[in-house]
Amino acid sequence: MKDFDVVVVGAGPTGLVLAGLLSRAGVKVLVVERRIDRGDRPKAVVLHAPTLELLDSFGLLDEVTDRSIPLERFAFHLNGTGSFTADMTGLDTHLDGYRNMPQPILEGLLEKYALGYGARIEYGVSYLSHEAGDSGGSDTVVRFEGYDDVRCSYLVGSDGPRSAVRESLDIPMAGRSLSTSYLLIEGVPRELVGRDEVGVHVGANGMVTMMPIPGDQVLMAGPVVNGLTLDRGASVPWRRIADAIDTLGFGSRLKLAEALRTSHYSVDLRVAERWVSGNVVLAGDAAHLNTPAGGQGLNLGIGDALALSWRLLAALRHDEAELLAGYEAERRPYATRVGQTTFLAPLIDRMRSAVDVNDPAVRAELAELALSWSQLYPDHGNRPGARHDARYELSAGARVPTSIRDAEGRLTPFLPSSDRVDASTLLWFDDTEPASVESDLPVPPVREVRRVARPATDGRVTVPDGARGLLVRPDRLVAEAIGS
Ligand SMILES: Cc1cc2nc3c(=O)[nH]c(=O)nc-3n(C[C@H](O)[C@H](O)[C@H](O)COP(=O)(O)OP(=O)(O)OC[C@H]3O[C@@H](n4cnc5c(N)ncnc54)[C@H](O)[C@@H]3O)c2cc1C
Repeated sequence: MKDFDVVVVGAGPTGLVLAGLLSRAGVKVLVVERRIDRGDRPKAVVLHAPTLELLDSFGLLDEVTDRSIPLERFAFHLNGTGSFTADMTGLDTHLDGYRNMPQPILEGLLEKYALGYGARIEYGVSYLSHEAGDSGGSDTVVRFEGYDDVRCSYLVGSDGPRSAVRESLDIPMAGRSLSTSYLLIEGVPRELVGRDEVGVHVGANGMVTMMPIPGDQVLMAGPVVNGLTLDRGASVPWRRIADAIDTLGFGSRLKLAEALRTSHYSVDLRVAERWVSGNVVLAGDAAHLNTPAGGQGLNLGIGDALALSWRLLAALRHDEAELLAGYEAERRPYATRVGQTTFLAPLIDRMRSAVDVNDPAVRAELAELALSWSQLYPDHGNRPGARHDARYELSAGARVPTSIRDAEGRLTPFLPSSDRVDASTLLWFDDTEPASVESDLPVPPVREVRRVARPATDGRVTVPDGARGLLVRPDRLVAEAIGS
């Protein structure tokens, strides 16, 4: 008799989303969190469209809208040259653009959702180790500090950058550390400017990113001074940060009337060499680390949770840990590619040497970056022909949009977001009845057949020639195009 089906270590966004999705599907989940409370330390803020779509399916969109602010672009302001922009609107989603919400507020909402479906969440409890139980198979005993031993079938390490679960498996994080410390300051700006953008202000010796957050405040972040490295836990006097920001030369635009909270962290570009080891799985920052550029880390972790949830459910139901293998095979290469898009130094060098802000090569690169940072098109970069005209095809592995834009930019609803990870969907374009909705692929059974209009061939999103429908997994990826 198991105490829990799944033990999740870490109540960050990744662990909480996973706990919510699994509990919703009837799985018995325990989340343990080392901190005694959530705190209000500044961390990530950017919520991209796929995360917003998932929050919509959780019934949380109204609260998210009330407690976040909408944004339209990432802007790069180069002192002396002008401003370059990556426009995040006009994409294939019913929730266009992105929103900024402080991470502790998001975690509070996610926790409420998970608790509502019966997940157990224990604060002040640290994972220590795990070992095989005596019942064979996936039976596992997990040991903690601050809690009794627990027996479970699957253990998930979503315990952040210094993951103790990853260390217990002896899995290295390949990659590199960037030697500069990122400083974060939440405060009240002297001037309320650029409220619809995240603005990266680049000076000769460093850069600062201004992220508007609710309550007319901003989160300022960045390697204010290139090469500055601080010890973990070191306190940084606010005056010193303000002086460093002044040297960037953006004047009152970057001045704060009041600093409310500060923190700093070191930046790494790393990916764990393995994500799955038998019945133990890594997700979120425990599996990958990137720079804060483009607000990728938190959204990537939530995507991991969605990709893992339906596979864990299948592995539990069929008692087959092998069903988890596809998770690492898909998410690890994707996380590696996303990490590369957050290393901005080469792009900023190209902006510095561009003739002007309309430089076509830089503009094309920014358009590409916007598609990638939106995380709406995870397989886009895999298709060589798709790169420059921004078109992509809904064949196996592509993510299915909630709404699709036609050539005039009009949105047509396609597949609404869902929090059901125990069901696949058959999207059917044909006017005939589908003969059978069985598939040999290891995906959950089809619970719904939805009739939708075939995307127009002149829009950005197309379907393979001859496809009569799409079998869509719970994480919205096409399992296979049918009839092509
Ligand atoms: C100061 C700071 C600023 C950041 N700024 C940005 C930003 O601007 N943009 C961006 O994209 N990303 C940023 N990040 C990264 C972003 O916050 C992460 O990508 C995101 O939090 C990942 O979510 P996660 O749930 O995978 O991990 P985490 O949020 O790290 O959650 C892991 C949880 O596991 C807990 N834990 C650790 N060890 C144990 C243990 N042994 N037992 C039990 N619990 C344990 C931790 O206490 C933590 O709550 C920032 C991170 C920090 C720390």
